[in-house]
Amino acid sequence: MASLRISAKQLRIGDTLEPCAEGAVLVEAGRIVAVGPDAAVPRPAGVATADLGDATLLPGLIDAHMHTFGMPSTGLGALNTEREPYRALRAAGELRELLEAGFTSARCLGSSVGPDLRRAIDEGHVEGPRLVVAGQFISSTGGTWDAPPLPSSWGRAQTAIADGVDEIVQTVRERARAGADFIKLGLSKGGVQDRYHAWGDDPHAQVTTYSVEEVRAAVDEAHRNGMKVSAHAIGTAAVNLALDGGVDVIEHGYAIDDETRARLVDEGKIVVTTISQLHFHRAAYDAFHYPDWERDVYERHWQAMRRDFELGLQAGIRFALGTDLIGKPTHPLARAAKEFELAVEWGMSPDEALRAGTIGGAEALGIAAETGSLDMGKSADLVAVAGGLSDLADLARPIFVMKQGRRVRGTLPI
Ligand SMILES: [Zn+2]
Repeated sequence: MASLRISAKQLRIGDTLEPCAEGAVLVEAGRIVAVGPDAAVPRPAGVATADLGDATLLPGLIDAHMHTFGMPSTGLGALNTEREPYRALRAAGELRELLEAGFTSARCLGSSVGPDLRRAIDEGHVEGPRLVVAGQFISSTGGTWDAPPLPSSWGRAQTAIADGVDEIVQTVRERARAGADFIKLGLSKGGVQDRYHAWGDDPHAQVTTYSVEEVRAAVDEAHRNGMKVSAHAIGTAAVNLALDGGVDVIEHGYAIDDETRARLVDEGKIVVTTISQLHFHRAAYDAFHYPDWERDVYERHWQAMRRDFELGLQAGIRFALGTDLIGKPTHPLARAAKEFELAVEWGMSPDEALRAGTIGGAEALGIAAETGSLDMGKSADLVAVAGGLSDLADLARPIFVMKQGRRVRGTLPI
């Protein structure tokens, strides 16, 4: 792979995203071999050069929580019955758009086609972000994602439902066999009569789905296989269950009390934000004729999420940015940069948001040694936006994207 020396008016370097005026990065064999002020970056004889002008060059963005469902987001009731070849092809198209939007890495936290998409991307058959994948969700009977009308025998046949330590251990092994990097456990759900079973009609009235012994068994078996564990956890009981069970990363993590918040901070646990999920539902209410009850549920979650995001920031929770986007038409993966804007709107500083959506995401995904910052030795995963990035809304319009040293977007010569 040819070498390329890229210069820009501003770079953001290292884990701290330190601004560097008039900087350059030297890319060789897909890696960053030098980065810093222009004068300090070598200019090997014959190297191709490219000047991004007044642009700001950043590490590639990372979506720490999304889904490669490959289904219309308005028809997810058929997720477990639609044919997988269609889903994989559709998701591949959406993943290319996510990459072109500047996201060079993403974590698919629940989709049976995720592991094979990752494989096809890594082998170069289709274009997409570097994926970290959970494969199929794991739910208890009647748990987070086991709701009628499908019989639970169907979910069990797909290894999406597991109860008791033995079955959970076996299911984690099935995920390892399928090529998952992460296990996705559903630890909270709505009460018995909730209409919005998976998230619960009231975020503060969630019930848990597993015993702590079951969660520990999943975590132990995942760790034995070199996988990490993420938990869908909303509400105090579920977040504490995740912590007691040794779960590595908390998804959503709101509607919690102050002690639980303090515990998240003390244990240094990463909480993935997922503001976009609700934002894009809200934006779709009218166009897609959401019923009143569903709007009410999302409004309650929106309030709880916002309040706890603000409290979490004050308390010092480690957030990573994740969108929980589920695909077109309501939640296009290509709109993932919205999460940065929303995090800032809710009180995160722009620099904090940039870190949470680059190095913070890489830490959540377990790939921080490989990507997540402009540092020597890391993969050449880059994104540039025109101008000085005074507004993170500009992230939605990248002028240049590079993944592993290969240009994905923009007119540079590599
Ligand atoms: Zn999700």
